[in-house]
Amino acid sequence: PALPLAHSGTQRTTCPYCGVGCGVQASVDGAGQIHIAGDPAHPANLGRLCSKGSALAATTSLQGRLLHPQIGGRIESWDTALSTTAQRLKQVIDEHGTEAVALYVSGQLLTEDYYVANKLVKGYLGTANIDTNSRLCMSSAVAGHVRAFGADTVPCNYQDLELADMVVITGSNLAWCHPVVYQRLVAAKRQRPEMHVVVIDPRGTPTCDIADQHLALKPGTDVALFNGLLSDLHRRGHVDEEFVARHTQGARQALDSAELSVDEVAELCGLGIAEVCAFYQRFGRTEKVVTVFSQGVNQSSAGADKVNSIINCHLLSGRIGRPGMGPFSMTGQPNAMGGREVGGLSNMLAAHLSLSEPGHRALVQEFWGSPRIASQPGLKAVDLFEAVHSGQIKAIWIMATNPVVSLPNANRVREALERCPLVIVSDIREDTDTARLAHIRLPATGWAEKDGTVTNSERRISRQRGFLPAAGEARPDWWIISQVAQRLGYRGFDYTAPAQIFDEHARLSAHANSDDQTPRPFHIGGLAGLSAEQYDALQPIQWPVRQAGDGGTARLCTEHFYTANRRANLVAVTYRAPVHAADAEFPFVLNTGRIRDQWHTMTRTGLAPQLSNHIAEPFVDIHPHDAMLCAVREGALARVRSRWGRVVVRVRFSAEMSRGQIFIPIHWSQQTASDARVGKVVNPAVCPISGEPEFKHTPVSIEPFSVD
Ligand code: SF4
Repeated sequence: PALPLAHSGTQRTTCPYCGVGCGVQASVDGAGQIHIAGDPAHPANLGRLCSKGSALAATTSLQGRLLHPQIGGRIESWDTALSTTAQRLKQVIDEHGTEAVALYVSGQLLTEDYYVANKLVKGYLGTANIDTNSRLCMSSAVAGHVRAFGADTVPCNYQDLELADMVVITGSNLAWCHPVVYQRLVAAKRQRPEMHVVVIDPRGTPTCDIADQHLALKPGTDVALFNGLLSDLHRRGHVDEEFVARHTQGARQALDSAELSVDEVAELCGLGIAEVCAFYQRFGRTEKVVTVFSQGVNQSSAGADKVNSIINCHLLSGRIGRPGMGPFSMTGQPNAMGGREVGGLSNMLAAHLSLSEPGHRALVQEFWGSPRIASQPGLKAVDLFEAVHSGQIKAIWIMATNPVVSLPNANRVREALERCPLVIVSDIREDTDTARLAHIRLPATGWAEKDGTVTNSERRISRQRGFLPAAGEARPDWWIISQVAQRLGYRGFDYTAPAQIFDEHARLSAHANSDDQTPRPFHIGGLAGLSAEQYDALQPIQWPVRQAGDGGTARLCTEHFYTANRRANLVAVTYRAPVHAADAEFPFVLNTGRIRDQWHTMTRTGLAPQLSNHIAEPFVDIHPHDAMLCAVREGALARVRSRWGRVVVRVRFSAEMSRGQIFIPIHWSQQTASDARVGKVVNPAVCPISGEPEFKHTPVSIEPFSVD
């Protein structure tokens, strides 16, 4: 049935999908029809929406919604569900200690939800076993930023892409994964055809439509390509000597470890010498260069090193902190950046502080007035579920994410949850592959019902505003967490509205900046003390916002960096191959990623029929010559197998695939297709620095499918 209006008129909110963070205008007419349009006043999209954003109205139905709290599959009252959750968590803590409890959260949560979850776990339970699915998306970028800049910060903004004379898009199918930013780039290139676009990707993707050059490098060889660029910039005299001397350190060591000739780069990356030279020379002679990177760089066992190899090139040539230049990490999820602000990763603390620093721990504990504070970094996503599997973790609370589909070695994750004594899931749906394994299910409000803030890839905080009443008995995540915290006996969780949480978050950021003389990039003290009305009316703004009334900050790294001596680090990195190499048994390399019209595990986009018109079922893309050698036919089913699992998918021939590589999208699950979870096949290797899994490089075989 059509839902009644919660707010009359048009509500301005934010799209819940990718890290572009587009502004949305939503309204409900007298017949209960929902109307969605791009918000022309939002600086991220200026009225544009992509296919997913435009189809948001079709995703708000009650189909599959979890409408009531459930324990063991039985509907219970909120009071019973919350008390049981608290009592069973307490029982695990009493018997096995706090390290036996973990939370696994999500870049789909709003900042206020994320903040309260981290406060409960790190400040009150006293463990740091809270990690997020953002670990799978941008933790390598976080590690790279911290190593280079001394803090996790993004120097650029979307406008810099339009101002650049050269845009390098590496490890990112921007056209499908961040469509509105891609549209902005297309429009800018139409106006200035001389803008040069280079796409670096083993696959030919739709992003190549605007490429002046496509470098189809061998998977995993990015560090070799960018180290070669660093050497070449030095050899050809493109070092910004003054910038390097005044603002950086480590250039000599980085150059020593990067030393590669163009011939060596071409050999390692499987590229032609002439195309490598053309890229290097263009980069060297163009001042305004932005390098955009995303999961193709981050999701690697060398993810952090890849990020630093890119940043090194911008630091050596001084191309950072000014309009139209800089390294630019695009986040995958709507609030990956907001999660970073509140310490959503298991190795971070709120306000971008570090769990490894005793002074930071003391500062946060004092601010919270909490009984304890986690004393060391917690388990990262892959290790966290391994600890569930081994029995070290005996209770896990999963919020707004579907790890049985999305984590690597996904069958092992399912086994882990099947054997875990206590699995709690807060979600909007009752039928995800993960929710089906939960002992306690807690119904959370969905996008159209939620109030709070999210932060996009360019550090812009935007309000998400609900325009529909909560479905059934669904409640906001911050409320659910706070209620459980209170039932565990903790003070400091008596919030009644998200504005109060945002205020505390803003005040903590100001407090974090008061401890020493090094200004931190994350500071939203200027947004503290907003009234409920001011919070509701908050306009999109880029942090840092240090003073009330200051209009935010478009660019960072303009005059100094955030290390103790304010200099950026060039980090010495060397190329190393992916952990698992193809061999005779598994001769192909599997790459995974998103398609244009689906989002994550399709819990929402799967409800919009128009989005399934694009691609209706799971598939594998393979070069026609490789397909011939393996005897797989176009349109037929094939079995793709690795050491970790197997999956059956439809074959598509694609001349855009390089030989020896195949591609399968991440979206389908047991719930949406007959267990076409590609996560079952993906290897569990991770970057030793960031913990981000190697989703882009799993050795596999492919063969015709037959029922045996
Ligand atoms: Fe939503 Fe991203 Fe599309 Fe914008 S580009 S409408 S944020 S999915």
